[in-house]
Amino acid sequence: MKMTRFSYLACFFVALVATVGPLKGQIRVRERPYFPDILGYQTLLCDFHIHTVFSDGLVWPSIRSEEAWREGLDVIAITDHIEYLPHKKDVRVDFNRSHAIAKPRGDELDVVVIKGAEITRAMPPGHCNALFLKDVAALDVNDWPDAFEAAIGQGAFVFWNHPGWTGQQSDGVARWYDEHTDLVEKGWLHGIEVVNTHEYYPEAHAWCLEKKLTMLSNSDIHNPLNLDYHLHLGDHRPLTLVFAHGKSEASIKDALFARRTVVYSENWLVGEAVYLQPIFTKTVRFNRSHVALKGTKSQFLQISNQSELDYQLRLKAPLDKLTVPEEIVLYAGKTVLFSIKAKQKDLSGSETIALPYVVDNLKVGPNEGLDIDFQINVTFEQDE
Ligand SMILES: [Zn+2]
Ligand SMILES: [Zn+2]
Repeated sequence: MKMTRFSYLACFFVALVATVGPLKGQIRVRERPYFPDILGYQTLLCDFHIHTVFSDGLVWPSIRSEEAWREGLDVIAITDHIEYLPHKKDVRVDFNRSHAIAKPRGDELDVVVIKGAEITRAMPPGHCNALFLKDVAALDVNDWPDAFEAAIGQGAFVFWNHPGWTGQQSDGVARWYDEHTDLVEKGWLHGIEVVNTHEYYPEAHAWCLEKKLTMLSNSDIHNPLNLDYHLHLGDHRPLTLVFAHGKSEASIKDALFARRTVVYSENWLVGEAVYLQPIFTKTVRFNRSHVALKGTKSQFLQISNQSELDYQLRLKAPLDKLTVPEEIVLYAGKTVLFSIKAKQKDLSGSETIALPYVVDNLKVGPNEGLDIDFQINVTFEQDE
């Protein structure tokens, strides 16, 4: 009897079911956003601000580890509130318990789960996360300076959360207080959330640059992940990219104290040019570096973008000899055409010309994009 394609498939499934039993259950899939390793460091995708049912979250701790695995994260911190425990009638109060439950699932899935806590105080100093804690319960004290001292005594990395949160600043504007100056001077405050959930705080961005503090971007998630972030529509939680020597707690801590981070939120990155520049150049490529231009006829080059972001480029200034796009979007994971032509028909010779663009969604300052120069070798030829 002649085997049809259908009967081959049917035989395959019968054999498969006979071997492994009926196919049932959910296939669990991980999808990791692509960010290149840079400057000899491993690029780790991290979320350092996560709640569970052990404070005011609505999710069991081990599920946080699997949510992180699915979204391609390398590192999370469980940071339940110390002073705000609305589920305490239903869930036993134990400040160290949420991490203890989340970590084994993280170990199984190769997601690093850091023990942290949210010191939840009025402004100033506002809410602050302490990471790499040994005993969270030691931070459960009356006065906030004592909570900070207990965290620092355990070697914690401490950062200020959502400084412009409307729950504490009704106009959404972040304000710096004397208490923050004291904390920084004592070495008790090391970073600030430049992004929390979908909020970006330009003031915090400027303070991080001015005071040499670490920039962070975190989800502060309370609900199941896909209730707050619409992954099925291409959304993602805000992440902190950490450039570490390896994927260990010690390396992550070292990188955080050394301010080797970039903020990733929606379709933009925030950080220092030293990190944004190599991320851009490692993900963007022209199909060729030389172009021969005949008279004033236009030619196409192709630019491919391997990254997760649609890079938004703007020409900084017109060029003397070439006409190139004033604005161009390099779509994520795609290749676009880039037109180029000589401004005058009688040019001759070969030269390397820099094309000076600004990438507006790679922010090196609150109102400043990353400068990049594409180098292109051009030969001008007469048109017959
Ligand atoms: Zn908070
Ligand atoms: Zn929080």
